[in-house]
Amino acid sequence: MKGFDYNLPAGMTDPALIGGLQGALLSELVDQLLECSPHYGHLLREAGIRSSDIRSIEDIVRLPLTSKEDIQSDHDPFLSVDKRRVREVVSTTGTTGEPLFFALTEGDLKRLAENERRTFSVMGVGPGETVQVAVAMDSLFIAGLAYSLGLRQSGATIVRSGPRDPKRQIRLLEELAPSAIIAVPSFLLHLAKEAEGMGIDPSALKLEKALLIGETVRNRDFSSNNIGKMVENMWRVATFSTYGITEASIAFSECAMKRGMHAHPDFVFVEVLDDEGNQVADGEPGELVVTTFKVEGMPLLRYRTGDITFIEPSHCSCGNPSQRIGPIIGRKAHRLKVKGTTVYPGAIKNALYSLNGITGYQVIVLSNDDGTDRIKVIVGSENFAPGFEDEVTESIRAHARFTPELEVVPSADMEKLLLSGNSRKRQTFVDRR
Ligand SMILES: [Zn+2]
Repeated sequence: MKGFDYNLPAGMTDPALIGGLQGALLSELVDQLLECSPHYGHLLREAGIRSSDIRSIEDIVRLPLTSKEDIQSDHDPFLSVDKRRVREVVSTTGTTGEPLFFALTEGDLKRLAENERRTFSVMGVGPGETVQVAVAMDSLFIAGLAYSLGLRQSGATIVRSGPRDPKRQIRLLEELAPSAIIAVPSFLLHLAKEAEGMGIDPSALKLEKALLIGETVRNRDFSSNNIGKMVENMWRVATFSTYGITEASIAFSECAMKRGMHAHPDFVFVEVLDDEGNQVADGEPGELVVTTFKVEGMPLLRYRTGDITFIEPSHCSCGNPSQRIGPIIGRKAHRLKVKGTTVYPGAIKNALYSLNGITGYQVIVLSNDDGTDRIKVIVGSENFAPGFEDEVTESIRAHARFTPELEVVPSADMEKLLLSGNSRKRQTFVDRR
């Protein structure tokens, strides 16, 4: 790959200047919030904070944190513009499953487009290339909207296939020969199997690149995990991992070096905090906290995402000096404590993906009397051969570093378990602590 065109604003490519510029952006944000945001205006005035108090980006620790619960319980005062300026509403899921709405202005849509234009630029996607967007374009999802706007800016040709109908997706890949696809990794694995079933070798199609969202495809050392490796091997494509935050209208994306996902310094400032709300050292895992720059509709100050990752301390050899985050290790709320080891359910999923014959899984967490967690993993399979259970247990031990209680059930029973309860989503994680 050649010709990285980050096309970042002046100063944002100079490591010596970024800190100062972000300090100025933060000071501007405080002014904007005092003037336009009923929620933050009240908080900042109560704390006696003015924009002149922000002399550098390090002063961010003086500002209040924001949680999803804050937005959920007091939504409207987060809106910082007149309602007539809102052009699009997107949603994400709140902590108790109900939708949480976010308002975007014309300026916010342009910012969203520019964020993704940069992603496609580092992927080498531009005029003359066709990109199949196999994620939801409707249902108030921000991702499909962002990709569509960003691709338009990049000059590429867009094929909005959406996330369904695998057979049609394969036919589109054959007939329109896109060079890149945007999809959830497990859906791409499903598509590859479907193609093989149709007598088509997925690696013989014209696809060269895949932008992967929604699931982690890297280990903490940035090597591809089992899901990532399977996508790379089945499709023979270069994979790029990306992670977006609906609430902040931003996405982080890998460059060709694949050593962390770049942030855009003029759009976001990244912190990683411990449970007490203090910044941890670069390289140490903690909760990802983001502050938005240049958002008009619903700007956010130190928003706690609930996702666990780390800030990569090394410089990226691609030359972009921006902050980078590691892969998402898990959700803070799903953190498990097993005999002194911290485990996230994603590690169990990754372990199961290295095995054949598993059709589904569910992780159930229970409490021991001593306050530690007891973890039961139920696996759906038609493989009841002696030794299979041991193979599954060994894989979990190797990838997640603990030994679970394991039960293998027929695939049909697994499906019933996954779809029980009130949620529309498959219940792969059940918390009974
Ligand atoms: Zn890079």
